[in-house]
Amino acid sequence: MTDPVPYLDLKAQLRPIRGEIDAAIARTLDNCSFCLGPDVAQFEKDFAKYCGAEHCLAMNSGTSALHIALLLLGVGSGDEVITTPYTFIATSWAISYCGAKPVYVDIEDATFNLDPKLVERAITPRTKAVLPVHLYGQPCDLDPLLAICQKHNLPLVEDAAQAHGAKYKGKTIGTFGGISCFSFYPAKNLGAAGEGGALVTNSPEFAAHARALREHGSTKRYHHDEIGFNYRMEGIQGAVLGVKLKHLEQWQAGRRRVAQLYHELLAGTPLRLPVEPGYAENAWHLYTVRHPRRDELKAHLDANGIGNAVHYPMPLHLQKAYANLGHKPGDFAVAEKASREVLSLPMYAELTEAQIQRVAAVVREFFA
Ligand SMILES: *Cc1c(COP(=O)(O)O)cnc(C)c1O
Repeated sequence: MTDPVPYLDLKAQLRPIRGEIDAAIARTLDNCSFCLGPDVAQFEKDFAKYCGAEHCLAMNSGTSALHIALLLLGVGSGDEVITTPYTFIATSWAISYCGAKPVYVDIEDATFNLDPKLVERAITPRTKAVLPVHLYGQPCDLDPLLAICQKHNLPLVEDAAQAHGAKYKGKTIGTFGGISCFSFYPAKNLGAAGEGGALVTNSPEFAAHARALREHGSTKRYHHDEIGFNYRMEGIQGAVLGVKLKHLEQWQAGRRRVAQLYHELLAGTPLRLPVEPGYAENAWHLYTVRHPRRDELKAHLDANGIGNAVHYPMPLHLQKAYANLGHKPGDFAVAEKASREVLSLPMYAELTEAQIQRVAAVVREFFA
């Protein structure tokens, strides 16, 4: 058997930039700026610019950023937030942390994203916000979503945890809704050396309020205007992210190259390949294919040393944690079918052409 192909190889990403990273971490240690500090402040400026936004507030995770985003909008007990059942569960956690209820709307079969056609009928007098996800790096169809939000005077928050650098109609994700939230979990397109996240907005009021909420609800030390949180980003994460951000465009180009090669090498197989609608420039966080015999295909890849993963095997409305919502199988059929059929192939900028060819060959062998 030839060399295995890992699903993700963070060491390959770190190797060429290890010197820069070590120097950045050493600088943080020398300054002892461990919580927020100058490196985080610089990263906030740089990441806001990358997203084309006025403000960036760095946090200790993407989940925290989502929580703060909904608090900024006044989401609270008894409120409803419209969202997708087909995502990583943290999207829904943020709603639950506010004491509000996730109201799920099924996804589009082609893109795995919240179906704009189904959103309007889910709106009730208690709806406080719409929270779509740019899943796998693929931007949602934002214009119809924004039109519905405008019509009903509802804010749109984007969960962009998987979509750093993705573009919608030529413009980078980050400022379409009032607030966008990113994650810097190590496996994301831009990953910290630990946990991290950020909230991006053009609103100076949201930015100031988010700054206070992440710091124990205070603008003046030991004076607390409201109940706040410790959601600050660590200094070391800001230093590492500042270095990595300089390489992000190059990594995105690498991911795009991998996706194109998969498209070419897997064309004509029975797999359904990811689509890139005309409005979207995918950030290719994941390359997720689908087939009804997913579990057999997965076993075949496992047996041949090809890394793979299922994102996601169970939609949120069927999770035990959300049993109280009273959903049952069949409620969101498109999401449920996707959860039975999807399989993510290795996807990262450092994959070599030989590795991609090996993945494609093993996939083709399964169908032969
Ligand atoms: C990773 C992720 C989050 C949570 O981010 P953390 O930094 O891990 O807290 C939220 N939503 C989506 C869609 C994610 O992929």
